[in-house]
Amino acid sequence: MATYATEIASSGRSKCRGCERSIAKGDVRLGETMMNPRVDRETTFWYHPLCAAYKRPPAILEFLEQGGELEDADRLRQIAEVSEAHPRMARLHVAHVAPSGRATCRACRETIAKDDWRISVVFFEDGYLNPAGYIHAGCVEAYAETTESAMDRVKLFNPELTQAELEMLAESVEG
Ligand SMILES: [Zn+2]
Ligand SMILES: [Zn+2]
Repeated sequence: MATYATEIASSGRSKCRGCERSIAKGDVRLGETMMNPRVDRETTFWYHPLCAAYKRPPAILEFLEQGGELEDADRLRQIAEVSEAHPRMARLHVAHVAPSGRATCRACRETIAKDDWRISVVFFEDGYLNPAGYIHAGCVEAYAETTESAMDRVKLFNPELTQAELEMLAESVEG
């Protein structure tokens, strides 16, 4: 069983387990404390609340269920509910142009050609994101059974993409 709590980050040293980026000093962070089999003791994993809503919905839903308070709680709950209803959507992580033509799409099982847009898939396990391959950007619907929230995720987890790149991706994702 995990326990949850929020606090203001007192340093910029913790890393968000959703986006894998640093949590800035002064930002709200949501902690999920649970047994960590990799080190055989309890560990607290930290998240930006929005990243948890997209990537680790039980953390948001259980925290709110336990009476926890968060700014934007209604919006976060709504995002977390979509993520929970579409667990494969919650696995979508980083979007980029394929540097080679070696990966096979997990949705259509065809090769992802060099220079095609692809999105990485990660499995959340014991507080860690485990990489599990790629899908074509155009296979989001086939993989996740929806494209609802897909581009919001892509934007959140790929802050370095330009507006033009996001538009190209949206065309592939939403068809
Ligand atoms: Zn984050
Ligand atoms: Zn595909």
